[in-house]
Amino acid sequence: MWKEKVKEYETDIINDLKGLLSIESVRDDNEISSDNPVGPGPRKALDYMYEIAERDGFDTHDVEHIAGRIEAGEGEDVMGILCHVDVVPAGDGWDTNPFDPVVTEDKIIARGTLDDKGPTIAAYYAVKILNDMKVNWKKRIHIIIGTDEESDWKCTERYFKTEEMPTLGFAPDAEFPAIHGEKGISTFDVVQNEKAEDKDEPEYELISFTSGQRYNMVPDEAIGKLAVKENMTDVIQKFEQFLSEHNLNGESIVDSGVLVLKAYGKAVHGMDPSIGVNAGLYLLHFLAQLGLDKTAENFTQFSEQYLFNSHFGEKMGMKFHTDVMGDVTTNIGIISYDNQNGGQFGINLRYPQGFEFEEAMTRFKGEIQELGFSIALGKNQTPHYVDKNDPFVQTLVKTYRNQTGDQTEPYTIGGGTYARNLDKGVAFGAMFNDSEDLMHQKNEYITKKQLFNATSIYLEALYALCVEE
Ligand SMILES: [Zn+2]
Repeated sequence: MWKEKVKEYETDIINDLKGLLSIESVRDDNEISSDNPVGPGPRKALDYMYEIAERDGFDTHDVEHIAGRIEAGEGEDVMGILCHVDVVPAGDGWDTNPFDPVVTEDKIIARGTLDDKGPTIAAYYAVKILNDMKVNWKKRIHIIIGTDEESDWKCTERYFKTEEMPTLGFAPDAEFPAIHGEKGISTFDVVQNEKAEDKDEPEYELISFTSGQRYNMVPDEAIGKLAVKENMTDVIQKFEQFLSEHNLNGESIVDSGVLVLKAYGKAVHGMDPSIGVNAGLYLLHFLAQLGLDKTAENFTQFSEQYLFNSHFGEKMGMKFHTDVMGDVTTNIGIISYDNQNGGQFGINLRYPQGFEFEEAMTRFKGEIQELGFSIALGKNQTPHYVDKNDPFVQTLVKTYRNQTGDQTEPYTIGGGTYARNLDKGVAFGAMFNDSEDLMHQKNEYITKKQLFNATSIYLEALYALCVEE
């Protein structure tokens, strides 16, 4: 029945989606003003959503042009549907113009079809269809639209500063059946404070060391520069042996008396560092056995003692596991050192609900202080969790199962979705298990089947949750 209902709207859905896809809503920091808080493109896409909503008879509420909402329904409680209309830049290599949507027999191709304009229009139409049916609402609905999801979430930050937090809600910005938990995500730097004096002139001095650029990626390259007094070939030989023992690629170059060592690893997302190869930690592992100057020695020893070959916080004394959300993970994403200032490690630590983050950090801080290291805390986002047995989540999943027959259980992840902006929110679609995931990639597309089936699932879910029988 729901699928039949959506059929009547197929042409309208595609037309409205095409309009939204035609707007190049990429954040542009060169064109920021109070009228265009993250650039003119995202603002235009936000206004576009207001326009179609007003055309269809809904009220809208703008929040300083960076976010806003479309309002429907009535009642005490608010069901939030959290969407975003900004997109990542197109990038190269497209077969078609990424901002001139192409509609083929079975799909729509353009930047944002999957992330998140397609799902946004699907959710919008679910609300619109119920509204056209003149159903008896028992909840208010806020379709909340952000314009900075792909960058800093300034949109939701601003929105929830003044606007009502929905009683419950979902973000159609990930996958079915539902993501009901997300680990806490923290980033911090471990900073070496003290330079150590060498009694004798060291045989090897570490001049500089760099590896990685992002906290949430495992670095796949590391470069160490060494001043070597003698036995240069000896070090090079040891390094070659080290590389082959550990199955690594690397190289050594002598550049005006300085020995440059490079090691290569395998970059993966920082939420699961155990499946990558951290080039930085491996190169430090080699340097730790060399006998460097004292400051560098302290730095490499720190890595050996707390970081190397320890993906689950075990060496930091932070090993923790829950059956629902899995393990603490620690990714050492950025490593730098120079012989003037000492070094630092940029760490991305993710943790399940129940892990005592503050306590663990305080203890760790105290322990490493004695070794001449301190911690500079960047960001800490606490875990986000809704019980999967909560009737709300169960209703969403039941709807998905009704329409697909797929019995996959809702799950938790180490990453963060837009849903964590809601007090009680889950990510719900709009990727199906057979959808090709081209989010943030070239030739992004959504199949018509995916678009209409998602609409139909949202429709049934909203009917079950927000309409008086
Ligand atoms: Zn998204």
